[in-house]
Amino acid sequence: MPNSTPYSRFQTVLDDVLSKLSLSDEQKKWFAQPQFIHKKEVSIKKDDGSDVSFPAFRVQFNNARGPFKGGIRFHPEADEEEVKALAALMSIKTAVVNIPFGGGKGGVQCNPKELSKGELQKVSRAYVRAMLDSIGPDIDCPAPDVNTTPAIMAWMRDEYEMATKSYSPAVITGKPLSYGGSLGREAATAKGGFFILQELINREAMDPSELKVAIQGFGNAGANMANFLHSAGYTVVAVSDSQGGIYSPEGIDPVRIQKYKQKTGQVAGEYCEGSVCDIERMKMDGVSHVTNEQLLELPCDILIPAALDNVITEVNARKIQAQFIFELANGPTTPEADAILEERGIKVIPDVLANAGGVTVSYFEWTQGKSGGMWTAERVDSELKRIILDGYKAVRREARRESMTYRQAAFSVGIKRMLEAMEVRGWL
Ligand code: NAD
Repeated sequence: MPNSTPYSRFQTVLDDVLSKLSLSDEQKKWFAQPQFIHKKEVSIKKDDGSDVSFPAFRVQFNNARGPFKGGIRFHPEADEEEVKALAALMSIKTAVVNIPFGGGKGGVQCNPKELSKGELQKVSRAYVRAMLDSIGPDIDCPAPDVNTTPAIMAWMRDEYEMATKSYSPAVITGKPLSYGGSLGREAATAKGGFFILQELINREAMDPSELKVAIQGFGNAGANMANFLHSAGYTVVAVSDSQGGIYSPEGIDPVRIQKYKQKTGQVAGEYCEGSVCDIERMKMDGVSHVTNEQLLELPCDILIPAALDNVITEVNARKIQAQFIFELANGPTTPEADAILEERGIKVIPDVLANAGGVTVSYFEWTQGKSGGMWTAERVDSELKRIILDGYKAVRREARRESMTYRQAAFSVGIKRMLEAMEVRGWL
């Protein structure tokens, strides 16, 4: 499907699962479109005195199970279609891990790399003012996403509290620790994924020390996952970032790579400066340079896309050598690729389950914001483990009972929980 959009890809999976669930038209209607789409312009004065406006979106897909919840991304390609798809996925995700939220997502169509820190702060505050009527601790609680940081969440909370004359730490999550953040939020997505992967590998009676892992993306999700897996004895054979990646069949030490990335700005920085690589040293260490496309097709047992969407497609799905694909990124696999992977017996642990650790710890942050309490790191970890593994077990049970793939089963669990809430609330 060359002209597919993120939302059309979501709908393909959704339609497939809805058809298996034999729902009424009235029930299906709730999944066809978001409940609300807010489209605004955020305008700021730039440092040079000129005025600039950016399209801004907040899509509220479904709040049957609780306040809308989902990140805000600042990206030149953030448009209504993309934000809609991400909001829909959030509704399924919060239901799969059974936390009391619905799903939403936001976006500002801008390139944050072209904005100064002051301009970025103005955009963040203008976004909150534009969406003031639609967000709130009991209505819709945003969070960080691509290119939005704890500092941005702090500006947004501050703007909301000033505009509403309230104390509202629960209006937004992913805040800095010094301003209402939660311990454990930083690595939560990778930690949740790690708990699921460990459970899966244990159940398959496999030995981590015999398993090779390739990870695309070395940011928050990918780098933390690489560290957890390396510490647990897995062999991380490849990592990459937007500049490309490195591969060593003998394994790579992610801590060392992180150190070099901090120094040189790229994962290949230990061996390469710009496009010039120290070939002799690479040979000596058994390391080779790989492109992001090559990384996906490397010999490994577990492949972890942790960067972009739409990277595993019908073009490369037949060339993937991994036995498991673990989706830390949102939407990395197209429906066409899913069908090929299923036919080839490759198990895909879908995004709505695999990366739900982030929103789960966001829920803990929201709880702490509402109650004024502070959780220890140990409490965050043990509650995250319990919740994410409950979600995993529910999906596994559904997959077995209904002969579904894990993605279909996760959607099925999520949809059923959303329908249950709609029924008890009298919406259906
Ligand atoms: P991030 O910005 O911290 O890291 C992204 C990484 O991807 C960086 O290493 C970047 O260099 C790399 N990258 C960018 N373009 C690339 C390309 N063309 N090829 C390969 N790598 C490229 O982002 P993150 O928070 O780690 O998010 C990564 C993915 O995980 C996204 O899909 C995001 O939606 C998903 N996710 C993140 C969280 C979270 O809590 N961080 C939660 C749920 C889902």
